[in-house]
Amino acid sequence: MNLDILRHSCSHIMAQAVKAIWPDIKLAIGPSIEDGFYYDFDKEAPFTDEDLLKIENKMREIIAADEKFVRAEISREEAIKLFQSLKEDYKVELINALKDPKVSIYRTGDKFVDLCRGPHLGSTAEVKAFKLLSVAGAYWHGIETNPMLQRIYGTAFLNQKDLDEYLKNLSEARLRDHRKIGPALGLFDIYHEEAGAGLVFYHPKGAILRNLIEDYEKVEHLKRGYQMVTTPHIMQSGLWKKSGHYDYYKDNMHIFKIDEQEYVLKPMNCPGHILIYKSQTRSYKDLPIRLFELGTVYRHEKAGVLHGLLRVRGFTQDDAHIFCLPQQLCAEIEGVIDFVFDTLKVFGFNNWEIELSTRPKDYIGSEADWQSATEALENALKAKGLKYDINEGDGAFYGPKIDIKLKDALKRSWQCATIQCDFALPKRFGLSYVDNEGKEKQPIMLHRVLLGSLERFIGALVEHYNADFPLWLAPVQMLIIPINSSVFEYAKKVKSTLKAAGLRVDEDKSNETLNKRIRNAELNKIPYIIVIGDKESAAGTVAVRKKGQGNIGVMKLEDFMQEVKEEINNKQ
Ligand SMILES: [Zn+2]
Ligand SMILES: [Zn+2]
Repeated sequence: MNLDILRHSCSHIMAQAVKAIWPDIKLAIGPSIEDGFYYDFDKEAPFTDEDLLKIENKMREIIAADEKFVRAEISREEAIKLFQSLKEDYKVELINALKDPKVSIYRTGDKFVDLCRGPHLGSTAEVKAFKLLSVAGAYWHGIETNPMLQRIYGTAFLNQKDLDEYLKNLSEARLRDHRKIGPALGLFDIYHEEAGAGLVFYHPKGAILRNLIEDYEKVEHLKRGYQMVTTPHIMQSGLWKKSGHYDYYKDNMHIFKIDEQEYVLKPMNCPGHILIYKSQTRSYKDLPIRLFELGTVYRHEKAGVLHGLLRVRGFTQDDAHIFCLPQQLCAEIEGVIDFVFDTLKVFGFNNWEIELSTRPKDYIGSEADWQSATEALENALKAKGLKYDINEGDGAFYGPKIDIKLKDALKRSWQCATIQCDFALPKRFGLSYVDNEGKEKQPIMLHRVLLGSLERFIGALVEHYNADFPLWLAPVQMLIIPINSSVFEYAKKVKSTLKAAGLRVDEDKSNETLNKRIRNAELNKIPYIIVIGDKESAAGTVAVRKKGQGNIGVMKLEDFMQEVKEEINNKQ
């Protein structure tokens, strides 16, 4: 059974239940959406929790009654008359906007009828597991000057087990919200009124996490044949006119003047990398050239769309541009795909979704270029045997792209990698290389990010692990707890030995009881706790507690360090 059809059918059943309870409420629309469905109703006051229970009970009656979804085709005129007689003004408006001479309607039970293209389930009895989730106000057609409607969100699954798992994940997701956990654990905050909205402050622990990600990326990029570059944050607007950003992306750019000259705060790293490519004559023997930068960019985002680390006004991309020969294109795309999956796995993500986005309405470049670029991306996905969806018209203005979304522990998807094929910018900037016959040719350019915005990735990472990071990523890897002041000296020695070995270690010398201090360390999700008492001090040992395992025994400091280093090297 198709989940979309199930959920959409369930929205009909919900509308039928609402009409059965409140016959005067008018119906708007009720599509299936990712993870569920909704229906919009014309009603002044919002639905209450009690209303939702009532509706759910009525829906159960309708499901138990095993009512068939009966399709009929009628003429537009008939349909308009039908829905006018039912006082369903929104449906009449929808039919008036339809061009077709015939429209389809669906009936369930003896009273309920809805305008719909379908398809639906055969019968209401096929719904085995559903739940109404929440209510919200929504404008008709999403336009603020239109009447405010009342929306009910719900979801349906093939069976109760899947539904229960979804509901469990949903409530777990609320607890894991990075906007709460981040500040609570001293990782970051985004809420400085004096600084402005959508700007991220990394506190010491968050900065460690971010540096670990950056360090990993730098080493791995160099290993894979990329070269690191750094480009300016502001560049003259002429450059952005040439790249097309000024015409196609201006609303998102910060433009300002220095000495009467117009400048742009960079929203993307591409033009900077292009200037570096252009600074020398390039031979076919030099290609592919892969330029990598942890590039911080600033974009104008409306206040209403800002959201935690997911939508911010300043962020850093793990951005690279690959300049290659046409015959290298497929291998380069495949190389990036491998790089993405290897990196995601290292950070604990093993599930993903892939989308191929094609030409949007506003675009630069020729149709033939768009076609060959789209084919190159698709061929690489096919060569890797990967499943993907096509996202019609969702490409960037300068080329089609592959988007890879990671799936976190709660099965939610987060945008991360993008691979964009671009024939347009090399043309605009007159990029070239000298081929084996000494002729000037135009290279192909790939734009790609692996994790995408580091900010968003850190948000995903925090929620995926519930901030309970594996040892190699934990901002504080171990906490020393000296039981009494007589062992402070030994504890100090242990701490400096661990620090010298590059381990991230803190100490809790407070007067709290041992149990309280252990409990605090656990709340702060610290992987190892080292308890030091007189016995350990005398024997030169440490008593170790491991997260999730409790006491793992007394051992020599060197043995402990050996074990911990192995765990870190294995990225656990
Ligand atoms: Zn329908
Ligand atoms: Zn780019």
